[in-house]
Parts: sequence; structure tokens; C-alpha cells
Amino acid sequence: MQKIAYLTIDDAPSSDFRRKVDYLSAKSIPAVFFCIGKLLERRQVDAVYAVRRGFILGNHSYSHIPFSDMCLYDCYKDIARADALIDRIYKRAKKPRPAKFFRFPFGDKGGLKHTEVFERYTAAGERRKEKLQQFLKSLGYRQPKFPRITYKYYKKAGLLDDVDWHWTYDVMEYAIFEKEHPFGIDTIKKVFDRMDENVPEGCRGLNYRGSDEIILVHDHANSAKLFMPIIERLLSKGLSFRLPISFSR
Ligand SMILES: [Zn+2]
Repeated sequence: MQKIAYLTIDDAPSSDFRRKVDYLSAKSIPAVFFCIGKLLERRQVDAVYAVRRGFILGNHSYSHIPFSDMCLYDCYKDIARADALIDRIYKRAKKPRPAKFFRFPFGDKGGLKHTEVFERYTAAGERRKEKLQQFLKSLGYRQPKFPRITYKYYKKAGLLDDVDWHWTYDVMEYAIFEKEHPFGIDTIKKVFDRMDENVPEGCRGLNYRGSDEIILVHDHANSAKLFMPIIERLLSKGLSFRLPISFSR
């Protein structure tokens, strides 16, 4: 049985966005681009182009500031501003918006912790996180159902129950370009070697057939040359890319 994967591309649209759209389109690989509002503002024509080719634009906030660093009011404003912009793009593309998907910048759900979603929040953090979840819901945001994501750690952290989407596999190509090289990843070889590991409950389950996968990669201009080799490598793992909803062009 083929392993199903959902491709999500964060921090779009970059100057390389249209090339990615053309490449994925030629390969019939569907994807959700989680867009940063302030970038989307500048590349609306490219975004309309992507929508017309069947790609989904998700909301990745307007300003891409960690939500734990903003007051709740600013978080709401930031989400709503990007939401309205995405609405306008779909209107310009003359396409109905098929679904409202949200991903928090840096995976920070606003619970006063950065990315450490696998740990418990404080009571105050939990309340803030819950308010943000409710706000997203009120705007019509929903996480698709992923019944075949079976990772215990993922379920334990409640990631399938949130309104926003998290991910099960982070390609981590961005680490090559960061000064500190998180997890020691400083070459594309290390990115690929990590893909070959088999630690399903340690966020490295590409070779494990027992779960679907939500893949995270980025639309960064500095990693543009790596995008195609990364997708090729994922395909070589026998992944079959899908959208979590039916969506006709
Ligand atoms: Zn991001």
C-alpha cells in the first residue's frame, strides 16, 4: 500500500513561488501553500495563478510573528487580516475558497511557549491557546480529518484535535541556512540522511508504512534550488501526495 502524504509549503509566496507551482503542477502533485499575508500582498498575481492551478492557499498569519509574543488582540487582527487577503485572492481568481486552513508561525500556538507543543502549557497559556482556537473556528477555519495519522506522540499532544494544522515530518531544509544549524543540519546530504531514518515516534516516519504523513517544507528563496531534489527524494520514498479534500480545478 502506498503511503499517503499531504504536502504543505510554509512561508509562501517567495520570489521562487511560481516556479514551484509550475513544477508541482507538471508533476500533478497537489499542495497547500501556507502564505504569509505581508508577502501575499506583494505577489497577488502569482497567488491567483496558483489558485487557478488547483493549489490551496492557507493562512500562515499576516506578519509571521510568534503568537506567544503578541497580545491576543494583535493575534486576532493578524489572523483576520491575512484571512481577508486570501478571500480577495480567491475572488480575483474567480474560484470559491475550498477550505480555510491555518498554520501558526513557528508552530507557536500562542500558548506562551515557542514550538514546544509536546509539553503542557501553563494554565494561562492553555487559556490563550484555547481563545485562539475559538477565534480561528469563528472565522470558519478547520483542520481536515486525518484518520490515518497514527503516531502516538501526535495524538497525545492533541495535534489532531486542534483547529490549525501541525505537521508530522519537517524536512528541515531551512536549518542549512541558519547560523546555528538546528540539529546539526548544515548540508542537503544531512537533510536526505534524516529522511532515511526510521524513528516513527520521533518525528522521522517517512519509512514507516503505518501512518499517513503531513510534510512541511518551505518556500524560501535561499533554498529554491533544493526544492525539486527534496520533492524527488520524497517521491522516491513511495509517497503518494494528496489533498485532504476533494477539490476540482
Ligand atoms: Zn513560517
